Amino acid sequence: MVRELGKLDFKGTWQYAAAPESTDHVQLGDRYDLFIDGDFVAPAAGKYFDTISPSTEKVLASVALSSNVDVDRAVKAARGACRVWGRMKPAERGKYIYRIARIIQERAREFAVIESMDGGKPIRESRDVDLPLVAAHFFYYAGWADKLEYAFPGKRPAPLGVAGQIIPWNFPLLMAAWKIAPALACGNTVVLKPAETTPLTALKLAEVIRDADVPPGVVNIVTGAGETGAAIVEHSDVDKIAFTGSTDVGRQIQKALAGTAKKYTLELGGKAANIIFEDAAIDQAVEGIVDGIFFNQGHVCCAGSRLLVQESVADEVLGKLKDRMETLIVGDPLDKNTDIGAINSPRQLEKIESYLALGRTEGAEMYQSSVAVPDTGYWCRPTLFTGVSQSNRVVQEEIFGPVLAVQTFRTMAEGIDKANNTPYGLSGGVWTDKGAKIFHMTQKIRAGVIWANTFNKFDPTSPFGGYKESGVGREGGLHGLDAYLSLG
Ligand code: ADP
Repeated sequence: MVRELGKLDFKGTWQYAAAPESTDHVQLGDRYDLFIDGDFVAPAAGKYFDTISPSTEKVLASVALSSNVDVDRAVKAARGACRVWGRMKPAERGKYIYRIARIIQERAREFAVIESMDGGKPIRESRDVDLPLVAAHFFYYAGWADKLEYAFPGKRPAPLGVAGQIIPWNFPLLMAAWKIAPALACGNTVVLKPAETTPLTALKLAEVIRDADVPPGVVNIVTGAGETGAAIVEHSDVDKIAFTGSTDVGRQIQKALAGTAKKYTLELGGKAANIIFEDAAIDQAVEGIVDGIFFNQGHVCCAGSRLLVQESVADEVLGKLKDRMETLIVGDPLDKNTDIGAINSPRQLEKIESYLALGRTEGAEMYQSSVAVPDTGYWCRPTLFTGVSQSNRVVQEEIFGPVLAVQTFRTMAEGIDKANNTPYGLSGGVWTDKGAKIFHMTQKIRAGVIWANTFNKFDPTSPFGGYKESGVGREGGLHGLDAYLSLG
């Protein structure tokens, strides 16, 4: 981790020099309309809502609230554009997607700053993780556009038509890229709804799509909350739904789609076990635990929110982990020194705090870093629970915040049992220096993604998705194409 220069204070502790990212090059309008058929248009009912910065609580912009009428207009535009986009030579489609990727790279700094302002994540993460991955997704899927026959030999891949895409607030632009890039590469058109607390980078992406001369109607972006999402799901002329979000909403969507011909993929919650064996490189494992649960304030569906540590090294790991938690800086997302930014919304902070209270009621012991947090904004100090049992709700349920549940195990079999004993199956981590143990664990843990001696590493070539209540289908890689094609 690279730090800016700082100085020693009178108590002899190192004070880091504040290093806020400049917002000079960021151009934000006061009001954002819907992006439909290649133009920004006012919502039919004329209603708007505010999007705020969770670190300053200030209004950043007002954003259109879409009604069913607007969603219908967007779906009609997308349907109309199928004729152009679906029949275009695949190599031509690829060129447009490459162009989107290149413009994003050129404007990456601006996008990173807006992402941190609107969502609260540290600029180091939006700049060094999210934005490179966003561009990489567009580049990767642009390359597939004219190679679909090779991806599915002996089949006749054809676009599905109009894809309705609903995304969450934890990786706003990255989730838009995960959804839009494969859909376009396969010849589909899109109606996408960003989350109501983080609409700005998707609306900026609309500008990029327009500047890339993508034909009107190929990508449409409608803003609003759950009702707008539900209007997309229920629209009769949508062919496919791609949703990333909470398991509760995923269930509602699955019910709404039952009995329809719509294809769907659902990427839902998780409660991943990060499993540390006694033969692991302990210092690296501690960094992996920190990255696993405190990256993006723990607003990560594949977060390593359960630590399973082998009993013989539990005291050492826990001691080092607590020391490390004391060094994490919580604060201004635009400061390059910040490790943990703002909690995305007051609603999410309330949810996290209710779990902190619940954990103590359940009899667990809570440890929280003593780091200072700003007076304004929504913040949660890095937190862990020890003394938990497998049935505790803080062990079973997704908290979606910087809160870790710590358990120990003696044997590999016990570790596997505990790891698998939740309703989720999205991800997991294994830390050991024995390759054979890694292979054994990855076969026994029922999760879509398992990292070995690392955590939270993403790549567009790699499929991502869950088992059990973590969802249906895969995104990313070759599997991500399958979800947007009919293979006659
Ligand atoms: P969270 O509860 O963590 O905010 P959600 O699953 O509610 O996550 O939100 C993910 C996305 O789903 C957001 O864009 C949100 O507006 C949308 N959404 C919420 N409720 C519904 C619904 N009933 N149907 C479709 N989309 C919805």
